[in-house]
Amino acid sequence: MKLYNTASKKLETFKPLSDVVKIYTCGPTVYNFQHIGNYAAYIYWDLLVRTLIANGYQVKRVLNITDVGHLVSDADDGEDKLEKGAAREGKSVEEVANYYIDDFMKNFRALNLKEPEVIARATDYIEKDEKAVDQMTVNGYTYETSDGVYFDTAKYDKYADFAKLDLSGLQAGARVGFSDEKHNASDFAVWKFIKPGEKHAMRWDYLGRPGYPGWHLECSTIIHEELGEPIDIHCGGIDHIPIHHTNEIAQTFAAYGHELSRYWLHCDFINIDGQKISKSLGNVYLLSDLAKRGFSPMDYKMWLLSGHYQGARNFTFESLAGAKARRLNWRNRIALCYQKEIVGGTDVYERVLEAVSNNLNSAEAFAIIDSSTIALEDWKKIDELFGLNLITDTPDVSEEIVDKIIAREKARADKNYALSDAIRDNLLTRGIALRDTPDGAVWEYNN
Ligand SMILES: [Zn+2]
Repeated sequence: MKLYNTASKKLETFKPLSDVVKIYTCGPTVYNFQHIGNYAAYIYWDLLVRTLIANGYQVKRVLNITDVGHLVSDADDGEDKLEKGAAREGKSVEEVANYYIDDFMKNFRALNLKEPEVIARATDYIEKDEKAVDQMTVNGYTYETSDGVYFDTAKYDKYADFAKLDLSGLQAGARVGFSDEKHNASDFAVWKFIKPGEKHAMRWDYLGRPGYPGWHLECSTIIHEELGEPIDIHCGGIDHIPIHHTNEIAQTFAAYGHELSRYWLHCDFINIDGQKISKSLGNVYLLSDLAKRGFSPMDYKMWLLSGHYQGARNFTFESLAGAKARRLNWRNRIALCYQKEIVGGTDVYERVLEAVSNNLNSAEAFAIIDSSTIALEDWKKIDELFGLNLITDTPDVSEEIVDKIIAREKARADKNYALSDAIRDNLLTRGIALRDTPDGAVWEYNN
């Protein structure tokens, strides 16, 4: 299996560190609904997990849920997103978090994504966060300001390596609005203090006053507690590279003296009609918005997997309709397998797995599927590899339909067209279409 490693900027042959492949995926901040662009990452990493399993590996995957301390800007100022959500909805921070976690998990299941072995809520790790800050301080990597404990990036000489950051440029560019108390523009808060009178529902007493952890810290802490570094694969979006993942790497080294992860996989953004997803453009589509237009979560997953995680993707409803039609075509090829014996190519599944094992090239795998004759046994394996619910969404109704086909043939022979049309229309209401072929009628699903 080959994966493109962002750390080395190379396609590498994957070698796990132990029998169980340890994977960590940066998860959602639960203060709002996740839009279709957010779900892209989870779909790509689900394919990663499924491909590893298909290659015979065991996987332990951890996904974090950010339910505290993620500020609206990546810099260490602005409101906490959770607090903002709570104020907007007149709910407690915890109610807001629980509501959006439920929605996230509901969609996770609707997309048939394998549930991670550990789903870790940031608020369950606060004591461990405090210990990590203590450790970084003991090791000489932090300093305190009036508003928090900061990581001194000048103390970690590899700080700029991962993202190939230009720190001198960053210093020059950050002079405006650069807090006097920060030693370097790239320094970041590992712990934030809550000022007297400041409204902040989530607070923990640490260092003699109320505060809360910096957003980046939870990932280092959760990885240390649940997986132990170094892990095999760390996944996230390309926007995480310069700040969030760079900071995770620095903290983990400062607190524990270890490399964080062997492989780093980053997915690119989803654009919509050629534009960024943004509230001001009115294109923040949710899966429920797609449903209103007749598209299932599986249609979206099919669309997404028809391209590659490393490329920016342009979502249009036209291309989504194309993906839906392709998935329906595959389901009807499965339906045909129920009606007559299809002798498939001998190595179709092997070729599909080989394609996807090459840095998750599902687009090439899909092209192989399109152009091959596939037996039912291979369809089942393909369905497990991509998690597209092809089999469950295509129940075998042959026995019942065959009787109807015979009745319709007889009605037509008797020139009783009213009856033959009635049989056909009745099936259509159930989403099943009859197609006449030289060998007689076959049935297929029409949505
Ligand atoms: Zn993270």
